[in-house]
Amino acid sequence: MKLTSVLGQKRITLSFEVFPPKADLDFESVRQAAFQVAKLGPDYMSVTYGAGGSTRDNTLALAEDIQKEYGVTAIAHLTCVGATKDSIQEALRDMRHSGIENILALRGDRPQWMEQEPFTDYHYASDLVAAIKEFGGFCIGGACYPEGHPDAANKKEDILNLKKKVDAGCEFLTTQMFFDNNIYYNFLYRVRSAGIEVPVIPGIMPISRASQVKNAIRLSGCNMPERFKNIVDRFGTNKDAMMQAGIIYASEQIIDLIANGVNNIHIYSMNHANVVRGIMENLSEIVMV
Ligand SMILES: Cc1cc2nc3c(=O)[nH]c(=O)nc-3n(C[C@H](O)[C@H](O)[C@H](O)COP(=O)(O)OP(=O)(O)OC[C@H]3O[C@@H](n4cnc5c(N)ncnc54)[C@H](O)[C@@H]3O)c2cc1C
Repeated sequence: MKLTSVLGQKRITLSFEVFPPKADLDFESVRQAAFQVAKLGPDYMSVTYGAGGSTRDNTLALAEDIQKEYGVTAIAHLTCVGATKDSIQEALRDMRHSGIENILALRGDRPQWMEQEPFTDYHYASDLVAAIKEFGGFCIGGACYPEGHPDAANKKEDILNLKKKVDAGCEFLTTQMFFDNNIYYNFLYRVRSAGIEVPVIPGIMPISRASQVKNAIRLSGCNMPERFKNIVDRFGTNKDAMMQAGIIYASEQIIDLIANGVNNIHIYSMNHANVVRGIMENLSEIVMV
């Protein structure tokens, strides 16, 4: 099923993100973890693409299995860093063959191990979006950054570049994680003012371990509100308390988003079914409204 039909409905949707293993040996255990997430009944699931295409086959295999075994629509991520026109055509043929109908088209970042020039055939995600559009048959999504992408000269330029991605054929956007909803509301206002009309799905990252915080900041450059820092300071050394507080914090973010009219929510589940389950329990009545 194409995601545009899921996102177009006037109801609340929840989607969960999982990541495939880097090593083939771990595939079965990761597959089982992803299945536990799928069992929670999301509207769709996204499967990430390892840095520089390092999980190409496992991304596809996991997305295919999620669809076949659980009937949950999958969106496969695809990056173009280090890719050639031929390798992207091949990836798209494989996806079509595996029954994948939805792609999150990304530029990606140059991994340290990559020796070749990273951006030759494709410079930006919008180039990849255009190539997928030309190939045909896929619903295409892209990433966006409420706090600005680190490479962008400023937020205004970043949004102008985002418009190019949407004009190239991107049908929905998923945001980088944020921990203060006002950042999302402000971003949405600027996105709409720039004439971008596609769904902008907030990406919520439940922090269940204090060690995730540093990683989250390093990867996303996102701002940590004082309220959240206090939670990590107070509960970070107690595993169970931190998990409970992280689940509640993410649940509150989602409740606020829904109360403000946001219907489509994406959760970075990080393959942790227990965390997503905790959020789902907190939202059991809310998602029914
Ligand atoms: C929801 C989400 C999912 C992700 N999933 C993955 C994943 O599975 N695998 C992975 O490796 N990474 C993933 N990433 C990380 C992503 O690859 C990086 O953030 C990367 O640095 C940018 O990718 P992009 O697709 O947003 O790039 P782009 O949209 O190309 O933007 C990158 C930078 O280039 C600028 N830019 C864009 N177009 C132009 C233009 N025409 N002219 C000048 N400047 C331009 C933008 O302003 C921005 O600063 C994900 C990020 C998000 C938010």
